Amino acid sequence: TPLLSLRGVTRAYRGDAAPFALEVPEFDLDEGEALALAGPSGSGKSTLLMMLALAAPPDAAQRFSFAGQDIARYWRGGGRDALADLRARRIGVVPQTGGLLAFLSVEQNIALTQRIAGRPDAARVRALAEELGIRAQLAKRPAELSVGQRQRAAIARALAHRPALVLADEPTAAVHPELADVVLALLRRECKTAGAALLVATHDPDRAVRAGYPVLSCETHAPGADGVARSIFVRA
Ligand code: ADP
Ligand code: ADP
Repeated sequence: TPLLSLRGVTRAYRGDAAPFALEVPEFDLDEGEALALAGPSGSGKSTLLMMLALAAPPDAAQRFSFAGQDIARYWRGGGRDALADLRARRIGVVPQTGGLLAFLSVEQNIALTQRIAGRPDAARVRALAEELGIRAQLAKRPAELSVGQRQRAAIARALAHRPALVLADEPTAAVHPELADVVLALLRRECKTAGAALLVATHDPDRAVRAGYPVLSCETHAPGADGVARSIFVRA
């Protein structure tokens, strides 16, 4: 069975100005698989990532399972604690701009997901730092690192607690174009090594394809008679 399996998942924002609906007819992700989530700005990538991070409920779902758990059922009733627990233990997030805490050392930042998951492992923090080329930066504060080094630290943090799924929302938005390819390749390699499934949201599908990612792309439909703009995510 796939790690993640969605059927007929929808989520809508009513908003007076620009009503919007996101639809995922059919989507599976296996353990260790990497995929890019491609679509223009405003197409619903962050909204989908929030649902996959178990941080926002779908409006409707024929199926939404993750790691053998019925996520849709948890959202329908009484499962908020289970969702928070699954999220802390099984999911790692790489934010757009690193999101490192300024008052902690790089080492403490990387160890943060382990602390939240209740699974400290200092040796793994050092091993990840070594692999990602930031071993010499561990005692420093994030502000003392280059943008690329900070992005590497964010990748290490997302993997430190051995998650089954890594979600990255435009992880190359803040880095130089040359570095963007490197970050995408690193992220894929590290997740593969760790056996984690990976989903990367990007508005640049060409770059994702160049980096070897298969693509879940977005069909955007202009507002119809009901005034609702639709984004339908389908496997390319
Ligand atoms: P992307 O990440 O692809 O840029 P988003 O998921 O952020 O797309 O947004 C998709 C659409 O949903 C946009 O039209 C945005 O304005 C709208 N949207 C996002 N979050 C909210 C919200 N909390 N309330 C209302 N509309 C929202
Ligand atoms: P808050 O919710 O106030 O940000 P948390 O203790 O939940 O505080 O998280 C602290 C930091 O760790 C935040 O910057 C957050 O983005 C990051 N973080 C939390 N959970 C994860 C995760 N599973 N993967 C990567 N980073 C995470």
